[in-house]
Amino acid sequence: MSIKIAELTHVYDKNTPNETIAIDHINLVIESGEFIGLIGHTGSGKSTLIQQLNGLLKPSSGEIIVSGYNITDGLDISKSNKKRVSKAESRARKKRLIEVRKRVGLVFQYPEYQLFEETIEKDIAFGPYNLGLQEAEVKKRVRDAMQTVGLDYDTYKDRSPFDLSGGQKRRVAIAGVLAMKPEVLILDEPTAGLDPKGRDEILYQIKSLHEKEKLTVIIVSHSMEDMAKISERLIVMNKGAVVLDGTPKDVFRNI
Ligand code: ADP
Ligand code: ADP
Repeated sequence: MSIKIAELTHVYDKNTPNETIAIDHINLVIESGEFIGLIGHTGSGKSTLIQQLNGLLKPSSGEIIVSGYNITDGLDISKSNKKRVSKAESRARKKRLIEVRKRVGLVFQYPEYQLFEETIEKDIAFGPYNLGLQEAEVKKRVRDAMQTVGLDYDTYKDRSPFDLSGGQKRRVAIAGVLAMKPEVLILDEPTAGLDPKGRDEILYQIKSLHEKEKLTVIIVSHSMEDMAKISERLIVMNKGAVVLDGTPKDVFRNI
């Protein structure tokens, strides 16, 4: 259940005047059950890296192996690739993408972008339904995920996800990803826009989830301080490269 990233590179707008090397030959090994803070200034490549880990972006070169499954292999969903493909090929790609999403769950920085159903229950059930699971199993996963993020099922199941506070929307988004039972949970700036109390609550919940379920967690943040408090390992990116990687103690010794 480890992640191996080898010589990973991502170039936007290749061979144009806007060419940007967002990820520059990254090599990383992430072991199962690690709790990682991925840190770096805006533009350092964090978003690009996590979108690659979730299969949203196809790397320009290099590979990502999650639990022995090469998620970059045959994946070609990049927006810049508008080539027409056969129905069979398109189906095969969708299947591969589902295999990736089953393993790696991504919670976006702005949870609004991943909430779209009219009730919270339907929203959280969307992913598991798409996996083709039985209704009883879907329902169980929805209840469990809501309990994990601290949303009472009976109180919230029929409410609209759009009427919630920022912190609660984020909980629904996290529950939707957890209902897929991923092996790796990636959260992009999960505390953005929350007050200090909401921030602590979300971080505490993620931490207990990690401890209880032995889930591998990667939190993207620009706050070294926040991440040093809760992470076991900090990975610091700059200009598309990993510049520091170690325990918070190691990393602070080297900055
Ligand atoms: P953050 O660092 O807070 O994640 P950014 O401002 O870097 O946010 O990026 C926000 C979104 O805009 C991301 O989805 C990213 O892919 C996209 N983005 C960033 N820079 C560019 C760019 N030069 N051209 C097009 N899209 C970009
Ligand atoms: P971070 O998440 O650390 O802010 P990003 O991965 O968003 O970093 O960005 C890395 C680099 O890639 C930046 O120079 C950014 O402007 C550029 N970039 C990000 N997304 C896009 C995009 N969709 N199109 C073009 N350039 C992008």
